[in-house]
Order: sequence, then C-alpha cells, then structure tokens
Amino acid sequence: MLQSTIQSPIGKELSCKNWETECLLRLFLNSLDPRVAENSEELIVYGGRGKAARNKKAMEAIIRELKNLDNDHTLLIQSGKPVATFRTFPFSPRVLSSTAMVVPKWANDEDFSILEKKGLTMYGQATAASWAYIGVQGVLQATFETMNEIANRYFQSTLKGKLVLTSGLGGMGSAQPLSVTMNGGVCIVVEVDESKIDKRLVNNYCDVKVHTLEEALVLAEEAMELERPLAIALCGNAADVYCEMVKKGITPHIVTDQTAVHDMLNGYIPSGLTLDQAAFLRNKKPEKYIKMAEETLIAHVKSMCELQNRGAIVFDYGNNIRGQAFKAGFEKAFSFPGFISEYLRPLYCEGRGPCRWIALSGNPGDIYKLDEAILANFGSDERICRWIKFVQEKIYFYGLPARTCWLNYHERSQIGELINNMVASGELSAPVAITRDHSEGSTMAAPFRETEGMPDGSDIIADWPILTGLLNASAGATMVSIQHGGGVGIGNSIHTGMTAVADGSLDALKKLKNLLTIDPGLNIIRHADAGYIKANNMIRELGLKKPL
Ligand code: NAD
Repeated sequence: MLQSTIQSPIGKELSCKNWETECLLRLFLNSLDPRVAENSEELIVYGGRGKAARNKKAMEAIIRELKNLDNDHTLLIQSGKPVATFRTFPFSPRVLSSTAMVVPKWANDEDFSILEKKGLTMYGQATAASWAYIGVQGVLQATFETMNEIANRYFQSTLKGKLVLTSGLGGMGSAQPLSVTMNGGVCIVVEVDESKIDKRLVNNYCDVKVHTLEEALVLAEEAMELERPLAIALCGNAADVYCEMVKKGITPHIVTDQTAVHDMLNGYIPSGLTLDQAAFLRNKKPEKYIKMAEETLIAHVKSMCELQNRGAIVFDYGNNIRGQAFKAGFEKAFSFPGFISEYLRPLYCEGRGPCRWIALSGNPGDIYKLDEAILANFGSDERICRWIKFVQEKIYFYGLPARTCWLNYHERSQIGELINNMVASGELSAPVAITRDHSEGSTMAAPFRETEGMPDGSDIIADWPILTGLLNASAGATMVSIQHGGGVGIGNSIHTGMTAVADGSLDALKKLKNLLTIDPGLNIIRHADAGYIKANNMIRELGLKKPL
C-alpha cells in the first residue's frame, strides 16, 4: 500500500504554500520513493538503516506539516519526528532538524539501539535524515575522484588493464563499479544479496552477474588483457571471496569494501548464512549474530591486509571497516589508510566539494538544459566538462532528476546564480533544489574518515560541523540538519546538511550566493586552521577572513 503512494509531486503546481516548503516536501518524498530508497517500506533510504522519518505516523505528520507551513514559520524535526512549529521570519529556514544526537557518554551502538527500540530516536545516516538523498549518483563523483586519484598517482592516469576488488552494492557502494569502469578499469564487486545485483544491472552500474570467483576471474582476465572496462558483480559473501583470493595467490591492483559494516547487526552478513538465516538470527539472537559477524569481519580485514602485503593498494572506503575490525579484536586493522585522508583531502583544501541540484519539476529536460549551460559557461574547466559528459552518457534518472558535481569556491556560487537565473527566465520548467553531501572538510567531524590524521591532531574536534550548520541557518538555508553517526556509525561522526531552493527570486539569489560561498569557504578555513599549506595559500589567494 505504502510502496505505491510514496512519490514526489512533480510539475509547476504547488501542493504546499510556497516553493521552499514544496521543495522540502518533494525532496523528502523523493528520498523515500521505492525507486530511490533501498527499503522504502521500512522508510530506510540507504546505508544500513539510515531513515528519513522515525516511523509511518511521523512521515505522514511531516507531509501534513510541510503542506500547511507558512513562509514565516519554522518546523522542527527531532530524529525523524516533527515536534514543533514556531513563528520565525521569511528569511529563516523552513525546517531545522537534529538527528541521532545523544549525550557523548552514551554515544555507542548498545545505548543507541535501546533508545531506538524505545522509539525515542532514529539513525539518519547523512543525506537520509536531511532529505537530500538522490540515489547512488549522490556519491558517484566522490568515488570516481578517489579512483581517478589512484590512477593518477600509481597507474599513468588510467585504470586500463587494472583489477579492483570491492564489495557492497547498496545505496552508496553501487557507485564503485561504475567509477572503476569510468576510469577504464575492471571491477569485481562482491554482493551477498542477489536482488541488489539485479537492480544495479538494470541501472547500468554493473555489466554482468556471476556466482563463482572462477567465473569472475575468467571474465576479469580477458577484460584486463583487452584493456576493456568491465564491472562484474559476484554474488557471495565478501569475506569468503577475499579469503579465497588470498588462497589462490591472486592479488588485485586495488582492494577496498563498502558493505554497511559500520552497523554490524544490520549492515553486515556473517559468512555461512543466507539472507533469511541472517534475518532470523538477527531477530532472535542478536549477540550470537554479532559474534559471527565479528569472526567474519576479522577474516575479511586480515585478507585485505595480506593483499596489501602482496602489493595491492588497499583503503577503507568510509564504512569504518578498520574501526569495527579493531573493536572486534584485530589489532592490525589500521594497517591501511582511509580514502579521504589519502586521496580526497587535497581537494577539500582547495574548497572543492560535492554540490548537487535537483529538478523539482521532475523533468529530465531541466537537468539537460543545465548541463548544456554549464558546458557553455565552464568550457575551459576540463574537470567539470569531462564529468558532465560522463554522467550524461552513463546515468539514468530515477526519482527526481538530479546532478552532482564537485565544485570549487568560485564555481559553486557561480552555478547557483546560473541555476537561479535560468529559473527566473523561464528556461527551466520549475525551481531547483541545491544541496550537498555531508562529506566535506568542515561539514563532517569523523576521525576514521573526513578528519582522520589531521596534522594538528584535531581529528575528534566536532565544532566545525556545528558552526557550519549554524551559519547555514543564519545565511538563508531552507533546511539545515545536524546529525550524528552517518557513514561510520554511532559515536564516530557529527555532521551537517544544508538545502536551499533556487526559485528565480532576488531573495533566493542573495541566499544562494551566501550559502554556496560559506560551505567551500569554511572547508578551506578548517583545513588552513589544521595547518595545511595549500589551504592557507587559498585563504590568501581568495582574500578570506581568518582572524587567527
Ligand atoms: P547499504 O546498506 O545500502 O548496502 C550495503 C550492502 O552490503 C548491501 O547490499 C548488503 O547486502 C551488502 N553486504 C552486507 N554484508 C555483506 C557481506 N558480508 N558480503 C557481501 N555483501 C554484503 O549501504 P550503502 O549505502 O551502500 O553504504 C555502504 C557503507 O558505506 C556504509 O557503511 C556507509 O555508511 C558507508 N558510506 C560510504 C560513503 C563513501 O563516500 N564512501 C558515503 C556514505 C556512506
């Protein structure tokens, strides 16, 4: 029943009182649309059990509140449940949201799941609770940039003829095989749930499905020999396959993993269990389940370390696999690095980060018109043009059509202005939402991911995302959310999301100019404060104000 009803309105007609609330209603429903969410029936958007609303009653109340919200009121969401509406100002955010926040002493899985079972909180991942999820595409460029950086650093700027072994074809993990083939390489991606593989074959993220490592290796060797990109989905348990690789003496060039292991109980399947058996054990004997999952994980991470010893480039892809293996008792789990400190941080130091825009009209033509305008206006930027051409060719839209693009300090506000102008002139058929991932330099504090290995030791300082959120709210964002536990799990991160709407008005333009300067600006300032020379140079180059 619910499956068929969750779908965003499209077109020009408003179902709310203004475009700001309409934008949030459409994004909220889009993130729960069964074509977009991993498990719409359970309100799970992605990333293990990352939800957009606490429960169905809360979901319905959010829809009702948004439809009735005036343009001088602000709705408060407490961990996926609407709790209050207050009169504020037209310039204020229409929605402020705080998700999964607990007093730090109790910020651990055990206490959190007790609170969750009591119905007091919800796990919101990152873009799930901030209603900015747009499917796999949202993380595609970060994954692409990581693979690209490895190709530049180690393999003459291409992954042609190179093999990547990874796992997990969920909401985020599915970006991996396509990112590898976009860089010319061959990918074997292990996924235990065959239905996820079938979904990714339809959406173009994988090319072929196999059931044994032998079959995968035959296909991979042939493709490597011919230097032909190929994404092979192997149905199986990641730990089993990685151990088998070690036994066979096969060393892929690159090894990583994106199962939802940050959540051992709900996101990681122990070896030897079918999905049904896992669901049964999880329900009936969670302690036994965790014990089995830990044993599996230790074998999994040990084999990653062994493949590293044999010459593979190995890294943690943002799911805290090292931290979980360490917690389970494998002391050498931190032998390989995290992807952000190793490959993406130099981009953060330049203020470059993930921006996304979503056509609230539901009309793919709006996104294609924006693609053309961006190619025309940023023709000299090889990085942006290459990306837009790639995604135009590879990405199918499902749910509201959207684009992501990593943009620097100037580009972000320039593109915001371009979008708003095109809405104002009527070139686009309706307003456009502009939002971003939580994964940036100042927007997430996560010592096993975004802030791992900061030169000044500020890895666990969580003031930056709070300051970013407060400033976004002061500068005209339509929605600001502050969250805990995204990506790497409860106790391991604090982060913030921001959404604005380009409705073609002068007010929207002013807000966008501020907001789209603040995010990359604070990114640079946070890294300069930590001692990065590149970020300090950017401060001087851009004339940013940093009192100390
Ligand atoms: P998801 O829950 O949608 O998907 C996880 C997938 O892993 C599922 O399809 C599941 O069947 C599969 N899986 C679980 N155990 C397995 C096993 N033992 N062997 C093989 N497959 C197994 O999660 P997601 O949204 O894809 O996120 C994956 C992880 O990445 C999460 O930990 C998430 O927090 C993290 N993450 C990474 C980034 C990034 O930029 N790299 C960003 C956000 C989140």
